[in-house]
Amino acid sequence: MSRKKDHHFALPAVVFGRERIADRVTTLAARISRDYASRELTIISILKGSVVFCADLMRHLAVPCVLDFMAVASYEGQRSRGVVKIVSDLRESPVGKHLLVVEDIVDTGYTLQYLKDNLQTRAPASIRTCVLLDKPSARKVPIRADYVGFTAPDRFLVGYGLDYREHYRHLPYIGAVKGTH
Ligand code: 5GP
Ligand code: MG
Repeated sequence: MSRKKDHHFALPAVVFGRERIADRVTTLAARISRDYASRELTIISILKGSVVFCADLMRHLAVPCVLDFMAVASYEGQRSRGVVKIVSDLRESPVGKHLLVVEDIVDTGYTLQYLKDNLQTRAPASIRTCVLLDKPSARKVPIRADYVGFTAPDRFLVGYGLDYREHYRHLPYIGAVKGTH
């Protein structure tokens, strides 16, 4: 690979390092396991951003769980605009299930609010939300996740599942890309 090409994928500066993430994920999983003791959990991982977080989180859970996925889309680009639609729906029925929506980041809040409202219409036993990152400063709708990994600065973050135009998801840490704010 030429140096010129490498330049386009310069490593993002670390914002949350891998050990810090691992510690926090373990703590969150312990809390979730305690809260759901003796109940079966249906984890709904929101594609694609939450898969790395979700995979780590699940492996630390001490309660039985079922995994399902949903994909949603908002407007393209770095910021969503409040118009959310389902691109890929659940495989399993959520009726009567204890749902835990696992999302990468809550920014304006439109996505998480939409997911909660949508799932609520399908008669689950309960719904809670778990997000790796929370950017409270960007909130447009007053929603709070039940479980939050980290409060994030209002910068565009990548890595550990999060992308910038589909790149950087594989990074083992969360970083900020230069040239994005
Ligand atoms: P919201 O609907 O809360 O504004 O945004 C949620 C979605 O916006 C997230 O699931 C994520 O896809 C995207 N998003 C918001 N902030 C960031 C960010 O800093 N980095 C990345 N990679 N995606 C973000
Ligand atoms: Mg997303």
